[in-house]
Amino acid sequence: MQETIQALLALQELDSDIYRVKDELRRLPAERASRRAQIDALVTRKDETHKRSLELKVKVKELEDIATTSRQRIRKVENEMAHSRADVALHAAYAHQIKSLKKDISLSDEEALTHMTEIETLDAAVKRLQGEIDAAEVVFADFSKNCASELAAAKERLVALETQRSQRMAPNIEPETFQHYERLLQTREGVALAALEERICQACYIQVPVNLYVRVARGTTVVNCPSCDRIFYIPPA
Ligand SMILES: [Zn+2]
Repeated sequence: MQETIQALLALQELDSDIYRVKDELRRLPAERASRRAQIDALVTRKDETHKRSLELKVKVKELEDIATTSRQRIRKVENEMAHSRADVALHAAYAHQIKSLKKDISLSDEEALTHMTEIETLDAAVKRLQGEIDAAEVVFADFSKNCASELAAAKERLVALETQRSQRMAPNIEPETFQHYERLLQTREGVALAALEERICQACYIQVPVNLYVRVARGTTVVNCPSCDRIFYIPPA
């Protein structure tokens, strides 16, 4: 059994590194995607703000057209009025029409002004967002470049470690023990073995009963930590 533990310890030495490299290989693309998504969200916000500004500009143009049409109509009515001075009733009707048209113009102008204030705010926001996006893109391009070279290096390291590992694979490890060991690598962040020192598990720091310590020291069976389930070994004194 000591042989099994020695073989597992030899593997563990590499497996901690393999776990770290694999973790890096997962983490880097995730980090990259998350950074990309943050910039994309900014771009969406900027586009939406820009779209809203354009919509309001169309609206302002429409309101200006309404005001222009109303002004033209006022001139037309005023002209007609000039030619009908004799008719009092008609004169009053014209005057009423002009008053109503002037009210339309005033309302259109007021609404247009409100929109123009909002357009100013929106355009300023678009400009600010574009600045943020440009700055973020520079940082992202730099990160992406580093990310690519780090990933390439990590992949190379992984291949080297796995080659070393296959050379260390001991044929005399029980399949059941080996499967348990591999499961622990997954669930215990790459550390499947735990040193037992003075009855304390050096991975989770619980104290084990004397009889359990004796079984580990005797080295005739594989003994797991009752708390973290890692495989115990007694480190050389
Ligand atoms: Zn433990």
